[in-house]
Amino acid sequence: VPVTIVPDSCQDEVQSFMHGLERRNPGEVEFHQAVQEFVETVMPFVMDHQKYRDAQILERMTEPDRIVIFRVTWQDDSGQIRANRAWRVQFNNSIGPYKGGLRFHPDVTLSVLKFLGFEQTFKNSLTGLPMGGAKGGANFNPKGKSDSEVMRFCQSMMTELQRHIGEDTDVPAGDIGVSGREISYLFGQYKRLANRYAGILTGKGLSFGGSQVRTEATGYGCVYFCENMFRHVGDSLAGKRCIVSGSGNVAIYTVEKLNHLGAKAVTLSDSSGFIYDPDGIDADKLAWVKDLKEVRRGRIAEYTERFPHASFYPDANPWGVEADAAFPSATQNEISLEDAQTLLKNGVRAVAEGANMPTVIEGAHAFMKAGILYAPSKAANAGGVAVSGLEQSQNALRISWGREEVDKRLQDIMSDIHDKCVHYANDGGGPVNYVRGANIAGFVKVADAMLAYGA
Ligand code: GLU
Repeated sequence: VPVTIVPDSCQDEVQSFMHGLERRNPGEVEFHQAVQEFVETVMPFVMDHQKYRDAQILERMTEPDRIVIFRVTWQDDSGQIRANRAWRVQFNNSIGPYKGGLRFHPDVTLSVLKFLGFEQTFKNSLTGLPMGGAKGGANFNPKGKSDSEVMRFCQSMMTELQRHIGEDTDVPAGDIGVSGREISYLFGQYKRLANRYAGILTGKGLSFGGSQVRTEATGYGCVYFCENMFRHVGDSLAGKRCIVSGSGNVAIYTVEKLNHLGAKAVTLSDSSGFIYDPDGIDADKLAWVKDLKEVRRGRIAEYTERFPHASFYPDANPWGVEADAAFPSATQNEISLEDAQTLLKNGVRAVAEGANMPTVIEGAHAFMKAGILYAPSKAANAGGVAVSGLEQSQNALRISWGREEVDKRLQDIMSDIHDKCVHYANDGGGPVNYVRGANIAGFVKVADAMLAYGA
């Protein structure tokens, strides 16, 4: 069955919508990409439903509610004053308080944060929890900075950010470059300035309001989602050879859960290259990687010094390694069209996106046309923000659930998202188009809330 991404009857609408969006948001290429991937699959559904068409719903949904831009001034260890730019994009709070991570990376731009805030809106909707979409961050590079420099940066950033957030307004969390250390510094500064303890951030330490399984949630959730896709076609991850990119929080806990389910992960990467371990990255090796990345903040190339039977490939990504399943868990656009074609040629059966929008649009089209099990990020990596939502619930109730309780809820949420995708994918018997399913399922809840509010 040939798979069409955009049916002929909607080509013109998609094209003219994208022209308008590009005119209103010149140069914001990542934002254009995220919206295009969304509109291509949602437009036919909107055309079929008069109520959405009449309400100009897609125009309204692609305009963020508000964007705050501010300067963050801080002092480095040599005494010099430094300045960075920071943003909070509050995209849509129709179904709950704004929710989404903060990213610290030198390449962060408004376009990147708008794409992430847009995606977050529908991802959060898919979790079934009452959370709106937002994203924020700064063009600050934490690499090579001392703990005290990171602390001073976080304190200065929160001095401004605190005016714009709140447990019922906007609840940031971590993302690339922002993990437990940064969340703790940010939270400490909020508490100091506001003189109140409140659940205004998630990903907090376990001793001050954090949730069990939050650290693991994105990686675990992504593997749970992939297992659901395999189960849907009568198969499982057990015994599958898997390639994973990245070596941060998402990648590490993806490998951990793959091991739990009897799969074998053979790669990890960072910006300087990837390691290939043909024997699999088992629990002991992963414990070493955790220490390398989380404590020593070292480079993945060191893996081959500790485990000499593994190889390191500089300036390369792992997509050429033969595998049954791929878990892109590094960053946006890390899978090019050629990479996607290589993966398909090597017989990949599933791709589950742990990172946000890791596949270029032509690559995503190639996966959809091939009919493989392709889980787009807004579905596959929703486990992270889902457990953030559970952290908010626990904070509001002033209780904390045990590890099993949270993990069970995470598994239920991921299988619920899977089933929603299947329901809305509506492929009439062919392979499930999870991109279409996720986009429409995420869209319906947000759109119906916006319609209910009137203007
Ligand atoms: N940054 C994560 C994401 O992309 C988590 C956001 C959160 O927990 O609020 O979904």
